[in-house]
Amino acid sequence: VDMKRVQASAAVHGRIYSQIVGTTGDSCPSIWFFFENNRYIVNCGEGFQRFCNQHQLKLARAQNIFLTDLSWESVGGLPGTLLTLADTSGIAGTKIHGPRHTTHFVQACRHFINRPKFQLSIKDFLGTPTAAPGSPSNIQNSSNSNISGVQTDTTSTGSSNKSGEAKALNRPQESFKDSNLTVFPIVIQRGDEPKFSDDYLAMTANASHSTLIKSPSSPNRVNGTLENIIESTRVPLEKEGNKQDVQEENSERECFHNPRNYTQPPSFFAQHKSTSICCYAFHTPSMRGKFDVQKAKQLGIPPGSAYSALTRGESVVNSKGETILPSQVISPEIPGSVVLVIKCPSEEYLDSLTDQNKWQSYINGIYSNCVATIYHITPPKVLDNPQYKEWLQNFQPQANHIAINERSSNRTAFQSAASHHAALNKIDEDMFSPLYENTEIPAPISVDGINVMQGELKDISWIRPSGEYQRFDWNSEEILYKEREKKIFIAEPPKVPALQELTKWDDTEVTFLGTASAIPGKYRNVSGIHLSTENGKYGILMDAGEGTLGQMKRVFGAQFEKTIKALKFIFITHMHADHHLGLNRIIQFRHNLLRDDAHEPLHIIGPLAIEKWLSEYNTLIDLSYQFTLVSDSTEVNELLRSMNLKFEPVEVIHCPYSYGFVFKHHKGWKIVYSGDTRPCSDLIKAGYGADLLIHEATLEDGMESEAKKKRHCTVGEAISV
Ligand SMILES: [Zn+2]
Repeated sequence: VDMKRVQASAAVHGRIYSQIVGTTGDSCPSIWFFFENNRYIVNCGEGFQRFCNQHQLKLARAQNIFLTDLSWESVGGLPGTLLTLADTSGIAGTKIHGPRHTTHFVQACRHFINRPKFQLSIKDFLGTPTAAPGSPSNIQNSSNSNISGVQTDTTSTGSSNKSGEAKALNRPQESFKDSNLTVFPIVIQRGDEPKFSDDYLAMTANASHSTLIKSPSSPNRVNGTLENIIESTRVPLEKEGNKQDVQEENSERECFHNPRNYTQPPSFFAQHKSTSICCYAFHTPSMRGKFDVQKAKQLGIPPGSAYSALTRGESVVNSKGETILPSQVISPEIPGSVVLVIKCPSEEYLDSLTDQNKWQSYINGIYSNCVATIYHITPPKVLDNPQYKEWLQNFQPQANHIAINERSSNRTAFQSAASHHAALNKIDEDMFSPLYENTEIPAPISVDGINVMQGELKDISWIRPSGEYQRFDWNSEEILYKEREKKIFIAEPPKVPALQELTKWDDTEVTFLGTASAIPGKYRNVSGIHLSTENGKYGILMDAGEGTLGQMKRVFGAQFEKTIKALKFIFITHMHADHHLGLNRIIQFRHNLLRDDAHEPLHIIGPLAIEKWLSEYNTLIDLSYQFTLVSDSTEVNELLRSMNLKFEPVEVIHCPYSYGFVFKHHKGWKIVYSGDTRPCSDLIKAGYGADLLIHEATLEDGMESEAKKKRHCTVGEAISV
């Protein structure tokens, strides 16, 4: 027996499901597909890694990451995840699939992903109009195929494919395929975007640079180490000759690409943002029919090679000289399932989404009875649009419709941290006020008889063995955490000395949103400190690591939106990923919140590399912010005047262009934040007499040499400062 065939069918017969691994709040909409031997991730927003860590979902098994779009909601956790994958699985080779410009997004992350040898493969699905399986001409081509004939071939990729699928999909077809899944991107566009064909014309006419731009027939795909990928997509920077050139080169010292050839996306991208979205159709393989040994005996077929021939789909001749067809001894194939992941962030995409040609094979074509689950990563407002509702009606009734959006309950994704916080709350109620959480699951929305259920964290949509939708049982999970919490209280809560009461800063509040270093942990998130003055009238963030927005939602609860609106400045100490990956989501969220009001843009203050990174991301996805260089203290002080604050940046001992901050209020108080640093005499001088010193203490006492090497502090060193 063909070993390859046996292996493939073993994989096919195991459990298969898709599961929600992120909703909104401290996670972002995300799904993964579980196979016994592999996992596939759809979207990787902020908090993804922390969620996997908390719920013991093994990232190393997930080689393929699919992105619906490049909004921060979908990609914010990717840089951190890549860093971890690079450090843990080394050169295993992660594959990223996404919309146009996905390659550029990864390239833009070079400012802080310093892992040149990390093996990556990136595929931009460009979305040609004929890409969707089952467009009218494809249907015609496959009209002579029956349902069992068009299933995906589980045995090998691209070899002699006798199934009807080859016929059905005989055009150049963008897809991904391995032994578990065949994935088709279905690309949708905003109404005001040029049509794809026009787009390509513009591309070839305007682009002076050809390495990134491929013809529609050759999908955009790059492979290799991160270093190679960046090299292959490099465009020389147009010389602007501004005064920052020197610093720019120096600030790139730690980046692995050659600073002299500093790169930026071609101007094409500035005019054509990454607004196209990949919806996906995930096809699981069909299961081969059962071989009926009894029947074979009756028909006079000798066991052995004739059996294998029939299994391979070949006919055989029996002892009486009759031709026996495989269908006489093998029951029909059990068709595979299809899971659709739809993302439709705004009504501008509706015309493109509801284009019948795109979905024909899932609505009334060859796969229409196979659609098991449809995930809608679609805001309530768009779901409620008559055009969307009408489109929903087209699918066959067996499909589960699951919405993942801000209606999903805001149950905490991080139980360990929550129970830890609950413990601290018992020690000091004021200091550790309860975290905001609402675990109520909203009722399904009925759309003319079709129920759209609200997707919740860890809900499972089974593909095999059954097709049921299973809510995750949080009660049993929570009992576990409550047990742990109890253990923390075996000892008498320690007495905490009261903080110095200072009337001069009665109206000022400092909130720690994250105090961990490097990777978001189970118990603590990465750096982020919120400072509010004049009873919440103004807000400043000092550093904003991944997950900062989610933490703010959890901590500020009902005051969350007010706090975001009051946020005026974000100061970033240095370019390490754990200090700034939360920036983009906050900028986007605040902008959306204030969209209809006149408002000042959020001021971002940090080293130059931050601006480089933000402006490159801004060429792909719109961000609204105002950047000021942290070392330009005159300018920064001008901006801070309205808040009655004086600011002094201090260069500290960490990576190049790392800063500590000193803030002085006209009421007389003084706050110092060290950022990451060794004990730093300049900071001590500048911060002398501070009312509050926030100092890093990354390592435990006894690890002084390690601290020296990595330019961090031990707890003891921090206290001595
Ligand atoms: Zn650092």
